[in-house]
Amino acid sequence: MKFTYSVKGIINGTVRISDRTKYSVITAAIACVHVLLVYVFVTIGSLPMTVYNICSVAGYLLCLPFIRRNALGWVFAYICVEVPLHSMLAIYTAGWDFGFAMYLIAIVPVGFDMSFALKNPLRGIKISTIFGIVSFAVFISCRMYSYYNLPLYSTDSTLFVQTVYFINMLCTFTLLLVYSLIFASEINAAQTVLRQKNAELAKLASKDTLTGFYNRRKMHEYLLDAAGGKEPFSLIMSDIDNFKKLNDSYGHDCGDEALKAVSDACRGCIAEGDRICRWGGEEFLILTNRSLDGAADTAEKIRSAVENCSLVFGGNDIKTTMTLGVAEFDPSSTIDKVITAADQKLYAGKNSGKNRVVK
Ligand code: GH3
Ligand code: MG
Ligand code: MG
Repeated sequence: MKFTYSVKGIINGTVRISDRTKYSVITAAIACVHVLLVYVFVTIGSLPMTVYNICSVAGYLLCLPFIRRNALGWVFAYICVEVPLHSMLAIYTAGWDFGFAMYLIAIVPVGFDMSFALKNPLRGIKISTIFGIVSFAVFISCRMYSYYNLPLYSTDSTLFVQTVYFINMLCTFTLLLVYSLIFASEINAAQTVLRQKNAELAKLASKDTLTGFYNRRKMHEYLLDAAGGKEPFSLIMSDIDNFKKLNDSYGHDCGDEALKAVSDACRGCIAEGDRICRWGGEEFLILTNRSLDGAADTAEKIRSAVENCSLVFGGNDIKTTMTLGVAEFDPSSTIDKVITAADQKLYAGKNSGKNRVVK
Protein backbone atom coordinates (compact mmCIF):
# COMPACT_ATOMS: atom_id res chain seq x y z
CA MET A 1 0.00 0.00 0.00
CA LYS A 2 1.29 3.43 -0.84
CA PHE A 3 0.94 6.14 1.76
CA THR A 4 3.03 8.57 -0.21
CA TYR A 5 0.14 10.26 -2.01
CA SER A 6 0.53 13.99 -2.08
CA VAL A 7 -2.34 15.57 -0.16
CA LYS A 8 -2.47 18.47 -2.60
CA GLY A 9 -2.69 16.07 -5.52
CA ILE A 10 -5.50 14.15 -3.83
CA ILE A 11 -7.47 17.34 -3.19
CA ASN A 12 -7.13 18.73 -6.70
CA GLY A 13 -7.81 15.33 -8.24
CA THR A 14 -4.49 14.80 -10.04
CA VAL A 15 -3.63 11.89 -7.73
CA ARG A 16 -6.19 9.12 -7.46
CA ILE A 17 -6.26 6.89 -4.40
CA SER A 18 -6.90 3.29 -5.37
CA ASP A 19 -10.07 1.62 -4.05
CA ARG A 20 -7.92 -0.90 -2.19
CA THR A 21 -5.99 1.77 -0.33
CA LYS A 22 -9.09 3.84 0.40
CA TYR A 23 -11.19 0.98 1.78
CA SER A 24 -8.25 -0.55 3.65
CA VAL A 25 -7.67 2.77 5.47
CA ILE A 26 -11.38 3.27 6.18
CA THR A 27 -11.84 -0.31 7.42
CA ALA A 28 -8.76 -0.05 9.63
CA ALA A 29 -10.08 3.28 11.00
CA ILE A 30 -13.47 1.71 11.85
CA ALA A 31 -11.63 -1.18 13.55
CA CYS A 32 -9.70 1.39 15.66
CA VAL A 33 -12.99 3.06 16.69
CA HIS A 34 -14.24 -0.35 17.85
CA VAL A 35 -11.06 -0.89 19.90
CA LEU A 36 -11.91 2.38 21.66
CA LEU A 37 -15.48 1.15 22.17
CA VAL A 38 -14.17 -2.05 23.77
CA TYR A 39 -12.65 0.20 26.47
CA VAL A 40 -15.94 2.14 26.80
CA PHE A 41 -18.01 -1.01 27.34
CA VAL A 42 -15.47 -2.52 29.72
CA THR A 43 -15.81 0.70 31.77
CA ILE A 44 -19.60 0.60 31.60
CA GLY A 45 -19.44 -3.06 32.62
CA SER A 46 -21.28 -4.59 29.69
CA LEU A 47 -19.76 -7.97 28.85
CA PRO A 48 -21.99 -8.66 25.79
CA MET A 49 -21.09 -5.30 24.19
CA THR A 50 -17.41 -5.78 25.03
CA VAL A 51 -17.46 -9.17 23.30
CA TYR A 52 -19.49 -7.69 20.40
CA ASN A 53 -16.88 -4.96 19.86
CA ILE A 54 -13.97 -7.42 20.04
CA CYS A 55 -15.76 -9.51 17.37
CA SER A 56 -16.32 -6.33 15.31
CA VAL A 57 -12.61 -5.53 15.40
CA ALA A 58 -11.87 -9.10 14.26
CA GLY A 59 -14.56 -8.74 11.55
CA TYR A 60 -13.05 -5.51 10.18
CA LEU A 61 -9.56 -7.03 10.19
CA LEU A 62 -10.97 -10.01 8.28
CA CYS A 63 -12.34 -7.54 5.70
CA LEU A 64 -8.79 -6.48 4.74
CA PRO A 65 -7.97 -9.63 2.70
CA PHE A 66 -11.36 -9.27 0.96
CA ILE A 67 -10.46 -5.68 0.04
CA ARG A 68 -7.11 -6.88 -1.31
CA ARG A 69 -8.98 -9.35 -3.53
CA ASN A 70 -11.37 -6.58 -4.58
CA ALA A 71 -14.34 -8.51 -3.12
CA LEU A 72 -15.86 -5.24 -1.94
CA GLY A 73 -19.45 -6.55 -2.00
CA TRP A 74 -18.79 -8.59 1.16
CA VAL A 75 -17.11 -5.69 2.93
CA PHE A 76 -19.99 -3.39 1.96
CA ALA A 77 -22.53 -5.96 3.26
CA TYR A 78 -20.61 -6.34 6.54
CA ILE A 79 -20.50 -2.57 7.15
CA CYS A 80 -24.20 -2.21 6.22
CA VAL A 81 -25.16 -4.78 8.87
CA GLU A 82 -22.55 -4.10 11.54
CA VAL A 83 -22.89 -0.33 11.97
CA PRO A 84 -26.71 -0.14 12.42
CA LEU A 85 -26.64 -3.27 14.59
CA HIS A 86 -23.92 -1.81 16.80
CA SER A 87 -25.74 1.53 17.17
CA MET A 88 -28.98 -0.24 18.16
CA LEU A 89 -27.27 -2.56 20.69
CA ALA A 90 -25.12 0.24 22.13
CA ILE A 91 -28.18 2.48 22.65
CA TYR A 92 -30.15 -0.45 24.11
CA THR A 93 -27.24 -1.14 26.48
CA ALA A 94 -25.93 2.31 27.41
CA GLY A 95 -28.62 4.77 26.31
CA TRP A 96 -28.87 7.69 23.91
CA ASP A 97 -26.57 10.16 25.70
CA PHE A 98 -23.29 8.55 24.58
CA GLY A 99 -23.96 9.58 20.97
CA PHE A 100 -23.69 6.10 19.39
CA ALA A 101 -26.50 7.02 17.00
CA MET A 102 -24.20 9.49 15.21
CA TYR A 103 -22.50 6.58 13.42
CA LEU A 104 -25.82 5.95 11.64
CA ILE A 105 -25.36 9.35 9.96
CA ALA A 106 -21.62 8.99 9.31
CA ILE A 107 -22.05 5.66 7.57
CA VAL A 108 -24.44 6.93 4.85
CA PRO A 109 -21.74 8.47 2.55
CA VAL A 110 -19.55 5.36 3.04
CA GLY A 111 -22.40 3.28 1.59
CA PHE A 112 -22.74 5.58 -1.42
CA ASP A 113 -19.01 5.61 -2.07
CA MET A 114 -18.71 1.83 -1.84
CA SER A 115 -21.64 1.39 -4.21
CA PHE A 116 -19.50 3.00 -6.97
CA ALA A 117 -16.81 0.39 -6.46
CA LEU A 118 -19.25 -2.48 -7.01
CA LYS A 119 -19.48 -4.30 -10.35
CA ASN A 120 -22.90 -2.79 -11.01
CA PRO A 121 -22.74 0.81 -9.71
CA LEU A 122 -26.38 1.53 -10.65
CA ARG A 123 -27.57 -1.39 -8.51
CA GLY A 124 -25.13 -0.26 -5.83
CA ILE A 125 -26.71 3.23 -5.74
CA LYS A 126 -30.14 1.66 -5.24
CA ILE A 127 -28.79 -0.49 -2.39
CA SER A 128 -27.00 2.44 -0.74
CA THR A 129 -30.13 4.63 -1.01
CA ILE A 130 -32.12 1.90 0.75
CA PHE A 131 -29.28 1.60 3.27
CA GLY A 132 -29.46 5.39 3.91
CA ILE A 133 -33.22 5.18 4.49
CA VAL A 134 -32.81 2.17 6.79
CA SER A 135 -30.10 4.04 8.76
CA PHE A 136 -32.50 6.96 9.17
CA ALA A 137 -35.30 4.60 10.30
CA VAL A 138 -32.97 2.92 12.81
CA PHE A 139 -31.90 6.36 14.08
CA ILE A 140 -35.55 7.45 14.64
CA SER A 141 -36.47 4.08 16.22
CA CYS A 142 -33.52 4.27 18.64
CA ARG A 143 -34.47 7.83 19.57
CA MET A 144 -38.08 6.80 20.23
CA TYR A 145 -36.99 3.68 22.14
CA SER A 146 -34.66 5.64 24.40
CA TYR A 147 -37.43 8.17 25.23
CA TYR A 148 -39.51 5.46 26.87
CA ASN A 149 -36.92 2.91 28.10
CA LEU A 150 -34.02 3.09 30.47
CA PRO A 151 -30.67 1.57 29.35
CA LEU A 152 -29.45 -1.73 30.78
CA TYR A 153 -26.32 -0.16 32.22
CA SER A 154 -25.83 3.35 33.52
CA THR A 155 -23.02 5.39 34.97
CA ASP A 156 -23.00 8.29 37.42
CA SER A 157 -20.02 9.91 35.75
CA THR A 158 -21.27 12.74 33.53
CA LEU A 159 -17.66 13.38 32.52
CA PHE A 160 -17.36 9.82 31.19
CA VAL A 161 -20.61 10.14 29.21
CA GLN A 162 -19.54 13.51 27.81
CA THR A 163 -16.07 12.20 26.92
CA VAL A 164 -17.50 9.22 25.03
CA TYR A 165 -20.05 11.56 23.36
CA PHE A 166 -17.20 13.84 22.31
CA ILE A 167 -15.15 10.91 20.93
CA ASN A 168 -18.17 9.58 18.99
CA MET A 169 -18.83 13.07 17.63
CA LEU A 170 -15.16 13.50 16.66
CA CYS A 171 -15.12 10.14 14.84
CA THR A 172 -18.39 11.01 13.07
CA PHE A 173 -17.20 14.43 11.88
CA THR A 174 -13.81 13.08 10.86
CA LEU A 175 -15.48 10.40 8.74
CA LEU A 176 -17.87 12.94 7.18
CA LEU A 177 -15.04 15.37 6.48
CA VAL A 178 -12.80 12.68 4.99
CA TYR A 179 -15.68 11.46 2.82
CA SER A 180 -16.56 14.95 1.61
CA LEU A 181 -12.89 15.34 0.68
CA ILE A 182 -12.90 11.98 -1.13
CA PHE A 183 -16.02 12.95 -3.11
CA ALA A 184 -14.60 16.38 -4.02
CA SER A 185 -11.27 14.83 -5.01
CA GLU A 186 -12.91 12.15 -7.15
CA ILE A 187 -15.14 14.72 -8.89
CA ASN A 188 -12.01 16.80 -9.60
CA ALA A 189 -10.17 13.71 -10.88
CA ALA A 190 -13.10 12.79 -13.16
CA GLN A 191 -13.26 16.37 -14.49
CA THR A 192 -9.50 16.42 -15.13
CA VAL A 193 -9.71 13.14 -17.08
CA LEU A 194 -12.74 14.46 -19.00
CA ARG A 195 -10.92 17.68 -19.92
CA GLN A 196 -7.85 15.72 -21.11
CA LYS A 197 -10.00 13.31 -23.15
CA ASN A 198 -11.95 16.20 -24.67
CA ALA A 199 -8.72 17.95 -25.63
CA GLU A 200 -7.41 14.69 -27.19
CA LEU A 201 -10.71 14.19 -29.03
CA ALA A 202 -10.73 17.78 -30.31
CA LYS A 203 -7.17 17.27 -31.57
CA LEU A 204 -8.09 13.96 -33.22
CA ALA A 205 -11.24 15.47 -34.73
CA SER A 206 -9.23 18.28 -36.33
CA LYS A 207 -6.41 16.19 -37.83
CA ASP A 208 -6.01 13.83 -40.75
CA THR A 209 -4.43 10.60 -39.50
CA LEU A 210 -2.32 9.75 -42.57
CA THR A 211 -0.59 13.10 -43.06
CA GLY A 212 -1.01 14.69 -39.61
CA PHE A 213 -2.33 17.83 -41.35
CA TYR A 214 -5.57 19.57 -40.39
CA ASN A 215 -8.70 18.16 -41.96
CA ARG A 216 -11.07 20.13 -44.15
CA ARG A 217 -13.50 20.91 -41.31
CA LYS A 218 -10.77 22.47 -39.13
CA MET A 219 -9.35 24.36 -42.11
CA HIS A 220 -12.76 25.95 -42.69
CA GLU A 221 -12.56 27.37 -39.16
CA TYR A 222 -9.12 28.86 -39.89
CA LEU A 223 -10.34 30.23 -43.23
CA LEU A 224 -13.32 31.91 -41.57
CA ASP A 225 -11.02 33.38 -38.89
CA ALA A 226 -8.59 34.65 -41.54
CA ALA A 227 -11.41 36.18 -43.60
CA GLY A 228 -12.79 37.89 -40.49
CA GLY A 229 -9.38 39.32 -39.53
CA LYS A 230 -7.54 42.36 -40.84
CA GLU A 231 -4.36 40.60 -42.03
CA PRO A 232 -4.01 39.87 -45.77
CA PHE A 233 -3.60 36.19 -46.68
CA SER A 234 -3.20 33.86 -49.63
CA LEU A 235 -4.12 30.27 -50.41
CA ILE A 236 -2.04 27.62 -52.13
CA MET A 237 -4.02 24.73 -53.59
CA SER A 238 -1.78 21.78 -54.44
CA ASP A 239 -2.34 18.39 -56.03
CA ILE A 240 0.11 15.52 -56.58
CA ASP A 241 0.67 14.79 -60.26
CA ASN A 242 -0.31 11.45 -61.80
CA PHE A 243 -1.05 9.91 -58.43
CA LYS A 244 -3.54 7.46 -59.83
CA LYS A 245 -0.81 6.05 -62.05
CA LEU A 246 1.50 5.70 -59.02
CA ASN A 247 -1.21 3.77 -57.16
CA ASP A 248 -1.91 1.60 -60.18
CA SER A 249 1.80 0.86 -60.77
CA TYR A 250 3.03 0.26 -57.21
CA GLY A 251 -0.13 -0.35 -55.16
CA HIS A 252 -2.20 1.60 -52.67
CA ASP A 253 0.28 1.08 -49.81
CA CYS A 254 3.00 2.68 -51.87
CA GLY A 255 0.56 5.55 -52.62
CA ASP A 256 0.05 6.01 -48.87
CA GLU A 257 3.81 6.11 -48.23
CA ALA A 258 4.24 8.62 -51.05
CA LEU A 259 1.47 10.76 -49.52
CA LYS A 260 3.34 10.75 -46.19
CA ALA A 261 6.66 11.60 -47.86
CA VAL A 262 5.05 14.46 -49.79
CA SER A 263 3.36 15.78 -46.63
CA ASP A 264 6.70 15.77 -44.81
CA ALA A 265 8.28 17.69 -47.67
CA CYS A 266 5.41 20.26 -47.57
CA ARG A 267 5.65 20.56 -43.77
CA GLY A 268 9.30 21.52 -44.04
CA CYS A 269 8.56 24.42 -46.41
CA ILE A 270 5.80 26.32 -44.63
CA ALA A 271 6.39 29.13 -42.17
CA GLU A 272 5.29 29.13 -38.54
CA GLY A 273 1.71 30.35 -38.43
CA ASP A 274 0.87 28.94 -41.87
CA ARG A 275 -1.91 26.34 -41.84
CA ILE A 276 -1.90 23.26 -44.01
CA CYS A 277 -4.73 20.80 -44.49
CA ARG A 278 -5.52 17.68 -46.46
CA TRP A 279 -8.21 19.17 -48.65
CA GLY A 280 -8.97 15.97 -50.57
CA GLY A 281 -7.35 12.62 -51.46
CA GLU A 282 -3.95 13.95 -52.59
CA GLU A 283 -4.76 17.63 -52.49
CA PHE A 284 -3.40 19.99 -49.84
CA LEU A 285 -4.54 23.53 -49.10
CA ILE A 286 -2.14 25.97 -47.45
CA LEU A 287 -3.24 29.18 -45.75
CA THR A 288 -0.42 31.69 -45.43
CA ASN A 289 -0.28 35.27 -44.18
CA ARG A 290 1.91 36.22 -47.12
CA SER A 291 0.98 38.26 -50.20
CA LEU A 292 0.54 36.65 -53.63
CA ASP A 293 4.26 36.82 -54.48
CA GLY A 294 5.37 35.59 -51.04
CA ALA A 295 2.88 32.71 -51.23
CA ALA A 296 4.12 31.85 -54.73
CA ASP A 297 7.67 31.66 -53.30
CA THR A 298 6.44 29.22 -50.64
CA ALA A 299 4.63 27.22 -53.34
CA GLU A 300 7.81 27.06 -55.40
CA LYS A 301 9.75 25.81 -52.36
CA ILE A 302 7.15 23.08 -51.88
CA ARG A 303 7.20 22.12 -55.56
CA SER A 304 10.97 21.79 -55.51
CA ALA A 305 10.99 19.87 -52.20
CA VAL A 306 8.40 17.38 -53.50
CA GLU A 307 10.32 16.94 -56.77
CA ASN A 308 13.51 16.22 -54.82
CA CYS A 309 12.04 14.06 -52.08
CA SER A 310 13.02 10.45 -52.38
CA LEU A 311 11.04 7.41 -51.44
CA VAL A 312 12.09 3.82 -51.88
CA PHE A 313 9.20 1.36 -51.75
CA GLY A 314 9.53 -2.36 -52.48
CA GLY A 315 12.92 -1.76 -54.04
CA ASN A 316 11.51 0.91 -56.39
CA ASP A 317 12.68 4.50 -56.40
CA ILE A 318 9.42 6.47 -56.30
CA LYS A 319 9.37 9.96 -57.77
CA THR A 320 6.51 12.40 -57.51
CA THR A 321 5.81 15.96 -58.53
CA MET A 322 3.20 18.46 -57.53
CA THR A 323 1.29 21.29 -59.20
CA LEU A 324 0.26 24.32 -57.16
CA GLY A 325 -2.16 27.20 -57.71
CA VAL A 326 -1.84 30.44 -55.70
CA ALA A 327 -4.47 33.14 -55.08
CA GLU A 328 -4.61 36.13 -52.72
CA PHE A 329 -7.72 36.92 -50.67
CA ASP A 330 -9.53 40.08 -51.65
CA PRO A 331 -11.25 41.52 -48.53
CA SER A 332 -14.26 42.54 -50.67
CA SER A 333 -14.61 38.94 -51.87
CA THR A 334 -15.47 35.65 -50.12
CA ILE A 335 -13.63 32.55 -48.94
CA ASP A 336 -15.33 30.41 -51.58
CA LYS A 337 -14.14 32.74 -54.32
CA VAL A 338 -10.48 32.68 -53.24
CA ILE A 339 -10.60 28.85 -52.99
CA THR A 340 -12.07 28.67 -56.51
CA ALA A 341 -9.39 31.08 -57.74
CA ALA A 342 -6.57 28.92 -56.27
CA ASP A 343 -8.26 25.82 -57.74
CA GLN A 344 -8.45 27.42 -61.18
CA LYS A 345 -4.74 28.32 -61.04
CA LEU A 346 -3.97 24.71 -60.04
CA TYR A 347 -5.86 23.37 -63.04
CA ALA A 348 -4.21 25.88 -65.29
CA GLY A 349 -0.92 24.37 -64.05
CA LYS A 350 -2.17 20.84 -64.70
CA ASN A 351 -3.23 21.78 -68.24
CA SER A 352 0.08 23.45 -69.02
CA GLY A 353 2.29 20.45 -68.20
CA LYS A 354 2.09 19.89 -64.38
CA ASN A 355 4.96 20.18 -61.84
CA ARG A 356 4.65 23.97 -61.68
CA VAL A 357 3.35 26.93 -59.69
CA VAL A 358 0.71 29.19 -61.22
CA LYS A 359 -0.23 32.46 -59.57
P1 GH3 B 1 -3.45 14.65 -61.88
O1 GH3 B 1 -2.02 14.83 -62.17
O2 GH3 B 1 -4.33 15.21 -62.92
O3 GH3 B 1 -3.82 15.15 -60.54
O4 GH3 B 1 -3.65 13.10 -61.91
P2 GH3 B 1 -4.02 12.13 -60.73
O5 GH3 B 1 -3.77 10.74 -61.16
O6 GH3 B 1 -3.33 12.57 -59.50
O7 GH3 B 1 -5.55 12.38 -60.68
P3 GH3 B 1 -6.57 12.46 -59.52
O8 GH3 B 1 -6.27 13.63 -58.68
O9 GH3 B 1 -7.94 12.45 -60.12
O10 GH3 B 1 -6.40 11.10 -58.71
C1 GH3 B 1 -6.14 11.06 -57.40
C2 GH3 B 1 -5.93 9.63 -56.97
O11 GH3 B 1 -5.47 9.64 -55.63
C3 GH3 B 1 -7.20 8.82 -56.99
C4 GH3 B 1 -7.19 8.03 -55.67
O12 GH3 B 1 -7.22 6.66 -55.87
C5 GH3 B 1 -5.87 8.42 -55.04
N1 GH3 B 1 -5.99 8.64 -53.61
C6 GH3 B 1 -6.79 9.49 -52.96
N2 GH3 B 1 -6.60 9.38 -51.65
C7 GH3 B 1 -5.68 8.42 -51.45
C8 GH3 B 1 -5.07 7.84 -50.29
O13 GH3 B 1 -5.35 8.19 -49.15
N3 GH3 B 1 -4.14 6.87 -50.49
C9 GH3 B 1 -3.79 6.45 -51.73
N4 GH3 B 1 -2.88 5.52 -51.87
N5 GH3 B 1 -4.36 6.96 -52.83
C10 GH3 B 1 -5.28 7.93 -52.69
MG1 MG C 1 -3.55 14.43 -58.65
MG1 MG D 1 -6.63 15.14 -57.06
